[in-house]
Amino acid sequence: MKKLIVQKYGGSSVANPEKIKNVAKRVVRYKKKGNDLVVVVSALGDTTDELIELASQISAEPPEREMDMLLSTGEQISVALLAMAIHELGYEAISLTGSQVGIITDTVHTRARIVKIEANKIHQELKKGKVVIVAGFQGMTPDKDITTLGRGGSDLTAVALAKTLEANECEIYTDVEGIFTTDPRIEPKARKIDEITYDEMLEMASLGAQVMQARSIEVAKKFDVPIQVRSSFSENCGTMIIKEVKNMEDVAVTGITLNKSESKITICNVPDKPGIAAKIFNQLAQGGINVDMIVQNVSHTRQTDISFTVPKVDSQKAIKLTQRAAQEIGELEVLEDLDIARVSIVGVGMKTHSGVAAGMFETLAKEKINIEMISTSEISISCIIKKKFAETAVKSLHEKFDLAKR
Ligand code: ADP
Ligand code: ASP
Ligand code: MG
Repeated sequence: MKKLIVQKYGGSSVANPEKIKNVAKRVVRYKKKGNDLVVVVSALGDTTDELIELASQISAEPPEREMDMLLSTGEQISVALLAMAIHELGYEAISLTGSQVGIITDTVHTRARIVKIEANKIHQELKKGKVVIVAGFQGMTPDKDITTLGRGGSDLTAVALAKTLEANECEIYTDVEGIFTTDPRIEPKARKIDEITYDEMLEMASLGAQVMQARSIEVAKKFDVPIQVRSSFSENCGTMIIKEVKNMEDVAVTGITLNKSESKITICNVPDKPGIAAKIFNQLAQGGINVDMIVQNVSHTRQTDISFTVPKVDSQKAIKLTQRAAQEIGELEVLEDLDIARVSIVGVGMKTHSGVAAGMFETLAKEKINIEMISTSEISISCIIKKKFAETAVKSLHEKFDLAKR
């Protein structure tokens, strides 16, 4: 049966001409079987990081509209090169930007949301027998301004296209064989997971597993789009991300994540009275800062410290806003700690297993790692620790919860 397959190739899979040719061969193999193919591509290797660095040499706070104009060029290069590589193999392909496809977004530059996708153009080109290659990570506002979909946003492009086109399969190709129990770059003993639920993947992605963009999993869950994450360098089956997996509550912990991209801000000696937290966090909210973990210490002296984490990229802005609030409250000291890491354990089985938190804290204690902040959700527990202990924490927790075996 003829299938419509959406494939997405990440930056690591198209990092150089050899790798692009390798991707072209794989695409052609699927095409030869009679399938229709829509291929989403990310920018080559670290292009997006390089473009951000380039912009920073011109301006400390570039206008976000211009940032999107700049960043979207990365994907324009990779789609053109992949189309050329497919032509070289004797097959027809056409590369399209997000706006040419009709990926319409809201106007929130650098992290736009997809509002709708007008798929006519894709259908027309598929009918002509062409492989359609779509630039990931980008869209267009109704006013024709180019937008981008947040870092890692090509995953979202792929999932949204799979849903709109009612594709039979959505494959995410990357440089690892699938979703692992933790980042295999940190723990070589990490094991590939065959199946994982949307909920667990979403939690892992939100807590720092860079392999899939969190927003893309939200969309996949909402529309029930099954995803296979697999390697562009091998033929092995990858990991299926789906609604439910068999015996999903048998184990307490499914995976461990690490996030080093947050910083901690502390306001010292805050008066312990109503309205103070509201004042601080209102300032931050108005500045568009996403505050994550918040801890307010217990006060015996009618004064208390409030600590919270923010993404490192927003740290400078967050510090300024916090200092402003601290001044208004009364000349309070504000401290910043950039040397933190968040280590988290994730698993739906946590709902039914007891002693999981205790196991985590004990393991960190054994390694003499101090826990600075703790937060939990229904299916995860996170600890903020000093960054220098991050890898040790991941490895010892991986061992503690027996993740290498199963
Ligand atoms: P791409 O270029 O394909 O988008 P990314 O670099 O965004 O690839 O994501 C793949 C990387 O994610 C892997 O190389 C791996 O080091 C990292 N990673 C982090 N956590 C995990 C995990 N739990 N399972 C698999 N990979 C992970
Ligand atoms: N190139 C973009 C990024 O680096 C999008 C992506 O890779 O998915 O964030
Ligand atoms: Mg990625």
